[in-house]
Amino acid sequence: MSTDVRHLIDLVPEDVLDICRRLREKGKRGWIVGGCVRDLLRGGAAKDWDVCTDARPEEVVSFFRKVIPTGIQHGTVTVVLRGVHYEVTTLRGEGAYSDGRRPDKVEFVDDITADLARRDFTFNAMAIDPIDGHLIDPFGGRADLEARVLRAVGDAAERFFEDGLRVLRAARFSATLECSIAPDTEAAMGAPRSLDTFRRVSAERVRDEWMKAMSATKPSVAFEAMRRTGLLAITCPELIATLGIEPGATQDDDAYHRALASLDACAGTPLLRVAALLHDVGKSRDAGDTARASAEMVEAILARLKFSNDERARVTALIRHHVIGYSSGWTDAAVRRWIRRVTPELLPDLYALCEAIARAKRDGTADLQAIDELRHRVSGVLAAGAALSTRDLKLNGRDLMTSLGLAPSRLIGETLERLLELVTDDPASNERETLLTAARAMLAAPPAP
Ligand code: ATP
Ligand code: MG
Repeated sequence: MSTDVRHLIDLVPEDVLDICRRLREKGKRGWIVGGCVRDLLRGGAAKDWDVCTDARPEEVVSFFRKVIPTGIQHGTVTVVLRGVHYEVTTLRGEGAYSDGRRPDKVEFVDDITADLARRDFTFNAMAIDPIDGHLIDPFGGRADLEARVLRAVGDAAERFFEDGLRVLRAARFSATLECSIAPDTEAAMGAPRSLDTFRRVSAERVRDEWMKAMSATKPSVAFEAMRRTGLLAITCPELIATLGIEPGATQDDDAYHRALASLDACAGTPLLRVAALLHDVGKSRDAGDTARASAEMVEAILARLKFSNDERARVTALIRHHVIGYSSGWTDAAVRRWIRRVTPELLPDLYALCEAIARAKRDGTADLQAIDELRHRVSGVLAAGAALSTRDLKLNGRDLMTSLGLAPSRLIGETLERLLELVTDDPASNERETLLTAARAMLAAPPAP
């Protein structure tokens, strides 16, 4: 295979070329390396450009006008060109890892091959000198990329033992790059020593990899790799517990596999796909209200994985409301009450989630039709300007106080809520005088405790 890849250099930004040219002028070399080389060879431009060099960090600092020396002790200097940041990293060798997360010390080397040898997978262990257009590929990364195989560089078991994040990256790449995992690499991922190292990876890193996997066409590929190797049992035993629950006709038809199918069928943000993945974890509990059980369990799962409060609230709200039970028999008042409960803001994501779940079912046609019908009825209700909160009432708390001579108290808010109930049943009653009359009657007869 030719190592002349000059035809790819057109895709490299001029600034990156400038950095490599400058390094050459100074008698040093600059290579683009890692993920950006992989992405170039796959036929696309990369999202970030990592440059490595045989110049030492202090030399890099002296070669460029504007630099940010953060990370310099790890060999990384940020070079700023026209306001854009580029990381230029001095070639590093393989230090020992004693914590399963980062090498004990950084050791600079002059040989690009030594730097590539410490990288995780063959397709991530390639470099291109963009000045001469030469590909450096000591581990057969290009062939693996073309064959769509993920393979560890060197001894897979050792590499996974050194750094616990790598097993997770392997699972993620198998989905995003749509590749299989070489059998010995996969066997090493599931080895007890690899899993022990993996247990020390921070929850934030696990969450980040989950979210990156969600950008794949079929994120389920990553979660299946995690299941086969034992990673999923460590990070999300709740999902593993749904294996074999509610079995269908075939062996891989159960709550777990249906959740994965929903995940793939869900075209939405990574966070919405998290909701699709986890929407039925409650099935493993023998609970009457699965949606509620799932939401409770998901709150705990997402807290454990350090999702933000907003993200947790969003996902659990979607899951709590995903069992709609709509039928054509619903009155308009029932539709309005449902919108109030769900909140209009949640609707687009909720429809998308429910449609994904329906599409993952063996026969979800009726469910899809029901969602469609509900969506139409909701649009009608919203277009009619239905009152969905007390703010939409043609009467506010101040009106109540002045017209009925009331002092500020909880009673005002409670009365407004009761008026909203009234208007939900009968939108025509949303008129100031009608509401005042109703309020008077309500105050004369408070609700039963
Ligand atoms: P993406 O940016 O799409 O997540 P990437 O491969 O570029 O993928 P980065 O985290 O940006 O991932 O890392 C850049 C390069 O650094 C990788 O391509 C790989 O060569 C190396 N690398 C990253 N993480 C590790 C790791 N845990 N072990 C060994 N090498 C790694
Ligand atoms: Mg990258």
